[in-house]
Amino acid sequence: MLKLKNVSKFYYNKGIIASGFNKVNLELKIGEFVVITGESGSGKSTLLNVISGIDSYEEGEMYINGNETSHYTERDFEDYRRKYIANIFQSFNLINSYTVYQNVELVMLLNGYKKKDVKKKILDIIEQVGLTKFKNTKVSKLSGGQKQRVAIARAMVKDTPIIVADEPTGNLDSKSAEEVIEILKKVAKNKLVIMVTHNIEQVEQYATRIIKMNDGRIIENTEIKKVEDEPIVKESIYNNIKIFNKYRLGIRNTFNILAKFLLLFVVFFFMSSAILGEYASFQMSEEEMTDDGYSIAFRNLSENRIIINKEDRTSFNDEDYEKIKKLDNIDYIVEDDIFLDTSVILSKESRSFNSYLMDIENLKDNLDLGRMPENENEVVLKISKNHYYIKETIDDVLNKTYSILKSEELNSYTDEKVMDLTIVGIKYNEDDNDYNSNLYVSKNVIKTLRKDMNKNYSNIKIFLNNKYEQYKVETSENVERGKAIVDDELKYQFKNYRIINQPINIYVDNIYYNDELDLKISNTYTKSNLKRLTGLTKYDNNRYKIFVNEDDYNSLYDKPSYQSSVFIKDVDKIEETITQLNNLNLNAKKVTDFKVNQGQIYKSIMKIIKVVVTIVLIIVLFFISYLIIRIILKSRNIYYTTLRMLGATYKNVRRILDIELFTNATISYCTLILFLYLVKSNIIKLEYIAKLTNYIGIKEFVLVYVILIVISRLISIKFARKLFKNTAINTYNEEV
Ligand code: ADP
Ligand code: MG
Repeated sequence: MLKLKNVSKFYYNKGIIASGFNKVNLELKIGEFVVITGESGSGKSTLLNVISGIDSYEEGEMYINGNETSHYTERDFEDYRRKYIANIFQSFNLINSYTVYQNVELVMLLNGYKKKDVKKKILDIIEQVGLTKFKNTKVSKLSGGQKQRVAIARAMVKDTPIIVADEPTGNLDSKSAEEVIEILKKVAKNKLVIMVTHNIEQVEQYATRIIKMNDGRIIENTEIKKVEDEPIVKESIYNNIKIFNKYRLGIRNTFNILAKFLLLFVVFFFMSSAILGEYASFQMSEEEMTDDGYSIAFRNLSENRIIINKEDRTSFNDEDYEKIKKLDNIDYIVEDDIFLDTSVILSKESRSFNSYLMDIENLKDNLDLGRMPENENEVVLKISKNHYYIKETIDDVLNKTYSILKSEELNSYTDEKVMDLTIVGIKYNEDDNDYNSNLYVSKNVIKTLRKDMNKNYSNIKIFLNNKYEQYKVETSENVERGKAIVDDELKYQFKNYRIINQPINIYVDNIYYNDELDLKISNTYTKSNLKRLTGLTKYDNNRYKIFVNEDDYNSLYDKPSYQSSVFIKDVDKIEETITQLNNLNLNAKKVTDFKVNQGQIYKSIMKIIKVVVTIVLIIVLFFISYLIIRIILKSRNIYYTTLRMLGATYKNVRRILDIELFTNATISYCTLILFLYLVKSNIIKLEYIAKLTNYIGIKEFVLVYVILIVISRLISIKFARKLFKNTAINTYNEEV
């Protein structure tokens, strides 16, 4: 039934050709017990491997049941092995982490049998090899002789016509060896057994044929006992492994080696938490970036704030404010909203600090320290509870009088005082980490300071003799209303120096309004009459000035508000409120519209960079995980090669591996989710991670799970490919 005609096997190794065996001719029949002997290196194992279909041959023809095999592909040999061959190895090739029963069962499952259909047969065969007592013992706990008996049981159970045994007694003591051969002999009855051994005496009495090899050639081939020829041999029946059994094996493999399970678990845990962590911190910084705007014009960028002014550009009056207050979403109105954005400086001896002015009427809650103001010079300070002034030097703050300094232009102050205010009450900021401070003052204080501010922020131009000039305007008690006293030098601009009674126009403008005064020049001052006319002494310091009456001058700056801010209760309804304000003939704009974000281009670039980083991270993670998992799985090479020798196809191996990784990844991922849940619900206290979890929703969890499964899938494909790249024996030898 098995015939070799001039078969040769060469090894090509880095350009060097070595001969495994050379021009072997052989014809073996069913029922034979063939013993092959010979020196080490004479080619016995190579011959057996070629006969077993686990190694290829380069020359000659090998026939099985009359079919020629030299054109066989790897797949055809898989089929060949499953139909005809059972192997027994010197090193047993058992799955150490499986029990005796599971080892024997494995070959049946791989060949498509149902678990319950084979139970009786397996137990029967285990009985035959005398291991019933050990059927549920892990193979790793057995002695060498017992292991080899398991290997024989495994070879028997599939009932193939050929059993190939390469030095099955090589690792056994003589007593065990005898038992093993005894069993083999029993098995050999209706089969072809081909066995390699050094110890010819042990087998002499059973052998029907003895073959001696030397240097890759058969030098002796003695038929001791004639066996009836059976030209066609019944093939062993096999099917593809049942899907259910693939799952069974995959799940069994997940847990059978604890260290491997834990290592894979850790890798998957690390991989999924790295992806989720990267994603969450990406989202977090994205959000921080959109929040992170600033505005040159406005400091108070509260999302509840709407800035309003009148469409006709006139100033607000009480009637306007009453109408606004009647709208339903209004919390409060800050009439002089410039103080929301411009701070005042409070100073006392060597201490000074910035504060933003608020109308005392808008202070609704109770004070934390002190009392409410009883007159216009008393104020309430709102400040952080943790501020140094409160914690360390409260005595220098509460019930102390501070001066407000006159501002000259934006953020620059003179030493001149505008007014004195006494802090009689303290209110803490809602947020302890908000170190801004507000000063709650009366409407009159705001009015006075606004006038001061209007003066400082306005441009002033003097229209005299049909030209605009930038003379300095000052007040003097000696000037009547409607009149102006100017430097005598200015008369040279006029015909005949007739400056008295000439009109002079003072024009003021700022971002809110413009106004002008029409005056008549009543007098001019010279070095000699300066003191008399204005009360000032140093002429050189007071050149080219325009002196006007104080009331006239104040009328230019003492204005009602032209721009106010409305604070609303419900931010979600801000658009409705804006529409309502527009209906009152007001311009209304959210202060957040004035926010300048970091450049849009910068933002898009950052986003692209982050997406690229995330993708690179996933790829890098894939390779790192692949390398680690490959190292972990390396210990599984023998397992999978053994599966292959027992009849598992590439697809089977891939699927079983897939299930193993899938199960492990899923358990690992569920553990991660549980962990994050515990962190989120504050049972495990990890603040930063808890914050990150806010950015991960169901969608992200599902997506990362899919990524994890895809990665483990790719790994199993890659690994299975590698296993099947070579002949079974080469893969196996690489590992042993
Ligand atoms: P035996 O089993 O009789 O001890 P082998 O069949 O293992 O001998 O080896 C036969 C010859 O083939 C030896 O010369 C050995 O060096 C060579 N050989 C075996 N396997 C390989 C291999 N994978 N690569 C190269 N040469 C090999
Ligand atoms: Mg050998």
